[in-house]
Amino acid sequence: MTILVKIADLDLSGKTVLIREDYNVPIKNGVVTSDIRIRATLPTLTQVLEAGAKIILVSHLGRPTAGEYDEAFSLAPVAKSLSDFLEIDVPLIKDWTNGIDMSDHQVVICENVRFEKGETTNDEALARKMAQLCQVYINDAFATAHRAQASTHGVAKYASISAAGPLLIKELKALSKALRDPVSPLVAIVGGAKVSSKLTILETLLGKVDQLIVGGGIVNTFLKAAGYEIGKSLYEADLVEVASKLMKQAEESDCHIPLPIDVVCGKEFDENTAAETKSVNDVTADDMIMDVGPETSKQLNKLIAKANTIVWNGPLGVFEFKQFSQGTKNLADAIAESDAYSIAGGGDTIAAISTFNIEDKISYISTGGGAFLEFLEGKKLPAIEILEEAARAWEAMERAREL
Ligand code: AMP
Repeated sequence: MTILVKIADLDLSGKTVLIREDYNVPIKNGVVTSDIRIRATLPTLTQVLEAGAKIILVSHLGRPTAGEYDEAFSLAPVAKSLSDFLEIDVPLIKDWTNGIDMSDHQVVICENVRFEKGETTNDEALARKMAQLCQVYINDAFATAHRAQASTHGVAKYASISAAGPLLIKELKALSKALRDPVSPLVAIVGGAKVSSKLTILETLLGKVDQLIVGGGIVNTFLKAAGYEIGKSLYEADLVEVASKLMKQAEESDCHIPLPIDVVCGKEFDENTAAETKSVNDVTADDMIMDVGPETSKQLNKLIAKANTIVWNGPLGVFEFKQFSQGTKNLADAIAESDAYSIAGGGDTIAAISTFNIEDKISYISTGGGAFLEFLEGKKLPAIEILEEAARAWEAMERAREL
């Protein structure tokens, strides 16, 4: 785990603290429909308030056009929800870039940071303005850590002190435990539609895992590479050679990529198409492979049962269609029953976890779609890098003060 400045390292009494949270929550008719992300931040807010600080909150919501106010993307419903949870008035500040009048122990939330020109382009002037609002900047939003934007990156450069919030640290710890320092055997499951979107992940994981289970459209490309008939299945013709190379690489590095022995096929990509389970050797030219079969599930279950660490991203089949969801359900159940340390992330994976009702049985569900995938790819996340830089500067300053 990298060195980061934490809230507990700082004296926040009387200070103004700018906290970047992730309040990108679903809203319908002006009301927050899922407040999980808001509730998750309450311990951070309480800790900072108890330390005697004033809090300025910043977050984005959706993808509005920069420079234009649009009520549909206003954080007003979030301000209301925060006021209810904290039992204090949390005003929404519309014009905040040039300074905010605050009283002691107050909490305010700035209007959607993406209404500002310069947020998504990491504009220096905007980042400096944010830094001037506070004495301490805290980034607590893992889900946006893969983006270098003014509120996630630039501000950390210019604030006097930049620290990592507890939610961000918790997420980094969970991901590092599974990927940087895993207890073996480590089994990774990478499913989903396309090899091309997860190629770097597959390459990175190959060097680390004991078993690499590929599923979804991805496995079709691997089956094609292994010489199987895959009919009309979704696959990527120009990546067949790459899949071949990955399989060879896996053999050489003692990693195992199990291919399905049976599959569930349909004739059309349609929710009403009839499903037929067959041996992987019996797929015909008019078949579409849309799930793994029960024999394959049994094999995968054995691998999952032996694992001590499990990393999961992407469904094994077209789980949105009931007749092709069983393979992903079997996998979800096997992970749920396993004692291994398991982490899962990515939009469709979270949807599958919720469909199969196993949220409580996964050790850690990552909040960050894009950030989770980039972490799996082994990439450095810019918002974390800048906090590490800030931590080194802060440590040097502290040491100099002690002398
Ligand atoms: P991704 O966003 O890459 O994780 O892909 C998830 C999507 O892949 C889901 O919507 C699945 O329906 C789809 N998918 C999984 N398996 C298949 C398959 N065999 N054929 C077509 N689509 C698939």
